[in-house]
Amino acid sequence: MQEIRIGDVTITSLVERDGPWRAPGAFFLGYDPAVHRPALEALGPVHYDAPGDRLMITYQTFLVRTPRHTILVDTCTGEDKGFPPPLDFPKQPWLDAFKRTGLRFEDIDYVFCTHLHFDHCGWNTVLRDGRWVPTFPKAKYVFHKREYEAAAAAAARGDGPPGNVWAMNCEPVVAAGQALLVDDDFALDDLVTLLPTPGHSVCHCCIDIRSGGQRAVVTGDLVHHALQCEAPDLSTIFCSDPAQAARSRRGFLHSVADTDTLILPVHIPAPTVGRIEGKGDRFRYVFAR
Ligand SMILES: [Zn+2]
Repeated sequence: MQEIRIGDVTITSLVERDGPWRAPGAFFLGYDPAVHRPALEALGPVHYDAPGDRLMITYQTFLVRTPRHTILVDTCTGEDKGFPPPLDFPKQPWLDAFKRTGLRFEDIDYVFCTHLHFDHCGWNTVLRDGRWVPTFPKAKYVFHKREYEAAAAAAARGDGPPGNVWAMNCEPVVAAGQALLVDDDFALDDLVTLLPTPGHSVCHCCIDIRSGGQRAVVTGDLVHHALQCEAPDLSTIFCSDPAQAARSRRGFLHSVADTDTLILPVHIPAPTVGRIEGKGDRFRYVFAR
């Protein structure tokens, strides 16, 4: 996506992968081809590979630069995590994208994770001499404390696939003393705050960015795909509470529909940044070009 400016804040993205990914019927709960396939086809090839019946899904990190802080929001899948195919895609694109920003790892002040699934906290850590250590040595990592506890509990039960995401991506950050375990009302400052939107995970939070009377929201996995604006009740097989996820999504979409709020969904392909148009009880995702 093109760099955007929100008052005194600039936001750009670092893409790890993009292209055709899952079949919609194997991703959305309650997917009905008779109803939803025409809606997907109407969204066009940026969002849907119609010949292959695959959703177009990007994995990306948002780089947020405020006058005070350099922040990463969601850190993709990372490297050396040992994920099975097709999750073993090359990691150089993300590293190259990071390099192009002109930043070094030690320049990152904060890392936010909308939630602690494997594709949102991967670059939190890297493998050094057989140990997972924080990638960004001077950063504080903002984790919702109950999200962190849920990830730890899932790891203890052995049900946090793929791999032990908590042990690789989360616990080493806490062990290094670099985590801020926060609650719903956490505010970094008057520019960057959490917006709790539970359901996809226990304490999923959007990242709310406001400056100069403008607003942008990193929506994490509240909206995986533009189809979920047309059909807000469509949650996914990866949602821990699909009904709550749908309520959070619908409430958020209502709150931003037909406003100037810019939406930054992690998985929507370039040009990524968009706005929400309301149309009755449904919504439309429109790229903000
Ligand atoms: Zn995700």
